[in-house]
Amino acid sequence: MKSTVIICLISLFLTSCIVKTEVDTIIHNATVYTVNGEFNIYEALAIDSGIIVAVGPEHEIMNAYQSAQTIDAKGRPIYPGFIDAHSHFLGYGLQLQRLNLVGTKSFEEVLDRVQQFIKDHDDEWITGRGWDQNDWEVKEFPSNVALDSLFPDRKIVLKRIDGHAILATSNVFELAGINDQSTVPGGRYLLNKKGLLQGIAIDEGMTAIKDVIPEPSLEQKNRALIDAEKQCFEVGLTTVTDAGLDQYEINLISAMQSDGELKMRVYAMYSAADSILDRVNELPLKTDRLNASSIKVYADGALGSRGAALLEDYTDDHGNSGLIITPADSVYKWAQVCKLNDFQFNVHCIGDRANRIVLEAMSKTLGGTNDRRWRIEHAQVMNDADLSTFGEFNILPSMQPTHATSDMYWAEERLGEERMKYAYAMKTLKNQNGLIALGTDFPVEDISPIKTYYASVARKDSEGYPDGGFKMTEGLTREETLKGITIWAAIASFEDENRGSIEVGKFADLVLLDRDIMTCEEDDILSTEILQTWNGGELVYEK
Ligand SMILES: [Zn+2]
Repeated sequence: MKSTVIICLISLFLTSCIVKTEVDTIIHNATVYTVNGEFNIYEALAIDSGIIVAVGPEHEIMNAYQSAQTIDAKGRPIYPGFIDAHSHFLGYGLQLQRLNLVGTKSFEEVLDRVQQFIKDHDDEWITGRGWDQNDWEVKEFPSNVALDSLFPDRKIVLKRIDGHAILATSNVFELAGINDQSTVPGGRYLLNKKGLLQGIAIDEGMTAIKDVIPEPSLEQKNRALIDAEKQCFEVGLTTVTDAGLDQYEINLISAMQSDGELKMRVYAMYSAADSILDRVNELPLKTDRLNASSIKVYADGALGSRGAALLEDYTDDHGNSGLIITPADSVYKWAQVCKLNDFQFNVHCIGDRANRIVLEAMSKTLGGTNDRRWRIEHAQVMNDADLSTFGEFNILPSMQPTHATSDMYWAEERLGEERMKYAYAMKTLKNQNGLIALGTDFPVEDISPIKTYYASVARKDSEGYPDGGFKMTEGLTREETLKGITIWAAIASFEDENRGSIEVGKFADLVLLDRDIMTCEEDDILSTEILQTWNGGELVYEK
């Protein structure tokens, strides 16, 4: 009898040993938001070789798997790694090396920051970004008079926060061959009351200036990518979209990823340029960490610099209806190129005129329902007659909730009440195809997906303004917002097969937060801390 019991115990021990599978990592005692089709919530998951091999109830995972690295999440929530569907990853990294003018409350403060920066930088060229005259008491474009007189030995180029206007010293305008008679299609040079150059170039007017600024070195770009990655992991991002790179930059990212120097997953859009036309078929690149199979075109400028192309004049600037950067025939040409070569086509459209032109070119080219997932980037000001084109031709909106809460103070002055109806219309556009990709457009906005989440759900700024939220009828639910920064962003970049949700077979890209953003008080969302970020089963950030 005694021996039978012993045999039974031994065999039980052996079977339990045999049954348990050894994996690299187990995370348990968590609230795992899988963001799968059923939006299931489980307690534990197992990771092996960078891939999620199981996710399910606590007992199921703990009975089936074992690991030397078993992490108790202490009940905290885990979400799929966040994805930014529209950002400028390299541009953000480069900006970290330059003068930062974000948050300046006056032009005097801009001058102070230039002064400070120049103290530790003896380069001839000083470049910076982040001023926004809409945040100043005097909400007018500045002039370069003070910059010219204070810093005569420097060449200074300061981009507006949205990247659609530049303030530069007169020596830069001269070098670029621009004078008070110069004109440029799709752009403008502002003149002062005397009819002289004021030092401001808008949209295509910036091209001649950008052309004379020395290109950042390979080493600077390399450092920029590493710095940007570090900060992105800190806010829980595991995939970023870079909305506009050239072939060399995409190749640099690819090389750094294969050397293990860069781990961030990047969805890279090629900037439309004639130089890529004759070698489009060489362009697509697809690895676990890089997908470059889309082309990005700018249809118009931005609202903050009155460069967004509107169907009717700006409410606060009669005679000005904005700027078309890429004319309709050219948009149509790029649409054809993308269709023929199986590229995704993504177009920056802010104003209702730009949106209309591009939706027409896209719908004509697409011809009907399809799975090409072409995207309108920003889709900021829509005319209601154009809304249904998204649904009819499966065109996806890619939008930035923090743009709404950054622009809400002055957007109505620019647009008037009527046009505000379908401005920042995230819910309306989400309903067209049942999904929306969310991002930040960083460095235009902050990189944090938590800020995106809050701006989408609460539609308020960081001070909690306005009470009740800005145009709440266009706010997204928490579930929709979470999908917008995970699975829907993955779908919008053809990466939903391997990321965007916590499901078996997908990359183990995860974030562990200190609170549950799906259930916490709305006021507590912004204080959320990222405790851990996992990328391909590797802990890449820990608080
Ligand atoms: Zn952008």
